[in-house]
Amino acid sequence: MRLLLAEDDQMIGEAVRTGLRRQGLTVDWVQDGIAAKAALGTETFDLILLDLGLPKLDGLQVLRWLRGTGSTTPVLILTARDSVNDRIKGLDAGADDYIIKPFEFEELAARVRAVSRRKSGRADNVIEHMGVTLNPANRAVTRDGENVSLSQREFSLLEALLERPGQVWSRSQLEERLYGWGEEVESNAVEVHIHNLRKKLAPEFIQNVRGVGYRVRATQ
Ligand code: CA
Repeated sequence: MRLLLAEDDQMIGEAVRTGLRRQGLTVDWVQDGIAAKAALGTETFDLILLDLGLPKLDGLQVLRWLRGTGSTTPVLILTARDSVNDRIKGLDAGADDYIIKPFEFEELAARVRAVSRRKSGRADNVIEHMGVTLNPANRAVTRDGENVSLSQREFSLLEALLERPGQVWSRSQLEERLYGWGEEVESNAVEVHIHNLRKKLAPEFIQNVRGVGYRVRATQ
């Protein structure tokens, strides 16, 4: 999952970015509203963590602009304890949930999972597809009931493919999903991860659509 974190507080920003990266999420961090808008206008994110008190353009303005573009990307707002009004305005402007500062990182991570689960229409955390299960909460993957050990990138790649079985992802879409700004990407990184996933799951589990990209087969 690729997240945009818009937060001007250095300490909170660092802690959230480090924590989420440790869980294998791709996190890009901006520190003001203009930069948030620029990032959202040019890149695709699966979820946005949006501080309301941002310099240059506040979080509420960013949110209203985003929803005005027709974007349905889930937004979790970060607000101060005493700003009930802001939370209401945020939810009314199209935020999906909020978390009050200061927060425990574990709670934030759980809310991120909950919001993205609702977005994908699942009541349950675990994704199941053709004998393979993936649990974003504990990052466990099984095949035919047996645990499969994946690297963080392999997990993220599999998670992307399993979100919408049948949908083809191009190599550059997968790279964008797996790597944040400033992270070096080897030119054949995606192919290597795909190769490893096929070895660990099953060669036919991931299909190569010639000249287009990769997908897992839709079950019908
Ligand atoms: Ca702030």
